[in-house]
Amino acid sequence: MPELPEVESLRRILARSAVGRTIVAAVVKEKRLRRTVAPDLAVTIAGRTIEAIGRRAKYLLIEMSGDHLMMVHLGMSGSLTHRRADFDGRFFNPRHDHVEFTLDDGTRLVYNDPRRFGLMLLLPRGEVGALAELRGLGPEPFADEFNADYLWRVSRGRKGAIKNLIMDQRIVAGVGNIYASEILFRALVRPTRRAGRVTRAELDRIATITAQVLREAIGSRGTTFRSYRDSQGQPGRFASKLRVYDREDKPCVECATPIRAIVIGQRSSFYCPRCQK
Ligand SMILES: [Zn+2]
Repeated sequence: MPELPEVESLRRILARSAVGRTIVAAVVKEKRLRRTVAPDLAVTIAGRTIEAIGRRAKYLLIEMSGDHLMMVHLGMSGSLTHRRADFDGRFFNPRHDHVEFTLDDGTRLVYNDPRRFGLMLLLPRGEVGALAELRGLGPEPFADEFNADYLWRVSRGRKGAIKNLIMDQRIVAGVGNIYASEILFRALVRPTRRAGRVTRAELDRIATITAQVLREAIGSRGTTFRSYRDSQGQPGRFASKLRVYDREDKPCVECATPIRAIVIGQRSSFYCPRCQK
């Protein structure tokens, strides 16, 4: 599933290649995504210029001329690719190309999504703040306000596992399952620890390392597991840098103790029983 680093990598690629281009035509071939694509999306979007591309949590916010904004979420298996004539489409089954935008230079932006859990909404910019999807999201992991003080405040009295806390989108937006295991390994905190008992020094490490791990992952264009490919069909390279995720029984990179796998909050989690207290 695309996580924050994958979405941010995509945002950067599209910001370079698609901003300034005008959408001359749009075709919705399959409207049944997580929410039904509005019947007038194609008509409303045609003729608009892409002015900027932002991101909030895992939502891409494509700002259009005429004060509209298109919000895109990739769901479990979605991808938005900017395709030139020589685009290598072999990783994308054309059957799952659901929405297609033709730009004024003849290139196409194509939304492909085999499992159709993604989202594509076009709305006036002023209405974005009221969207259920964005309301109540916690700070971005790179924001100044996401720090040890903040984590201390929100974790006191919490009985749940620290891993669930940092994956809670209301606490911090955009930390997914893979990265949560990696962050806690580097912060030397066992993922099962009761959030309310994690020390101030440990929370300080978690806050700093969260931003660090996500930045590194963005630099590697994210992690590729199965279907995810970026806007140019390139896989992410972060998978080779994972230290604990998906490494059950393999030796810890720090101490050679076999990595353990457990399920926390129905998600597979990995940790070193020696390094992580
Ligand atoms: Zn270890």
